Amino acid sequence: RDQLHLANEQLRQLSQRDGLTGLYNRRCFDEKAAEHWRHAARHQTPLSILLLDIDYFKRYNDRYGHLAGDDCITAVANCVSDIAHRGDDIAARYGGEEFVILLPDTDFEGAEHLAEQVREAVESLNITHAGSKLGKVTISVGGASLRYTTGWSAKKLLDRADKALYESKNNGRNCAHVTDVNELHQILMIESETSMADNMAQLLSGHCEITVLNQSTEIENLIDGCKPELIVLALENEIDESIV
Ligand code: GH3
Ligand code: MG
Ligand code: MG
Repeated sequence: RDQLHLANEQLRQLSQRDGLTGLYNRRCFDEKAAEHWRHAARHQTPLSILLLDIDYFKRYNDRYGHLAGDDCITAVANCVSDIAHRGDDIAARYGGEEFVILLPDTDFEGAEHLAEQVREAVESLNITHAGSKLGKVTISVGGASLRYTTGWSAKKLLDRADKALYESKNNGRNCAHVTDVNELHQILMIESETSMADNMAQLLSGHCEITVLNQSTEIENLIDGCKPELIVLALENEIDESIV
């Protein structure tokens, strides 16, 4: 019975892994990403995704053959798993010479740091690649980072990372680009009671930038300057009607 249990467990693990690199496969990645997405939404924690793609890999295969190509993919995969080493990090082979890393509870700065680390690690492998203008095997990295999941989906975040990857390719390859996707929305509150505004600002900290004004401020100039997404007016009738 124990042996059957062990065999089942081995089978389960095998079905999650990519045969060549031992990293998670795409299907398993998608499942785990969905789990982490729910967790991040529930606990309001940040989450980042990195996409990595080997530069000029078609030329590498053409010149050195598919066996060498596979060895190269494995070497890059090892760099990826060395760097995505935190307990919850999930590194997967996403397609032929493409990898993805999910970084739960990791903000923009963390994601940028890791993206650069893995790019550097692959460059330091010093695998000769005569078909690349850099003379060796390199990767391009694209990332997207969320401070909170509200209004986003895992698919949308992956799309953003893909766009960032495209930018890295366009910038000459062997570089990393991470996008911080939650731009802070500006909200302007016109309020004479500042304690309520302070509470709001605290509740929404990280989600939006709240500027609080009272009647004495030059409201029109400020509106023009910060172009708020939303303007909240005081409920009491204390504000000069000419402004409203
Ligand atoms: P770029 O710098 O724009 O990424 O150029 P690229 O040549 O890497 O990109 P492209 O997507 O055109 O080519 C990817 C190539 O990767 C196509 C195929 O020859 C190779 N490839 C995909 N999967 C495997 C694999 O499992 N093993 C090997 N050896 N080669 C693969
Ligand atoms: Mg590719
Ligand atoms: Mg490529």
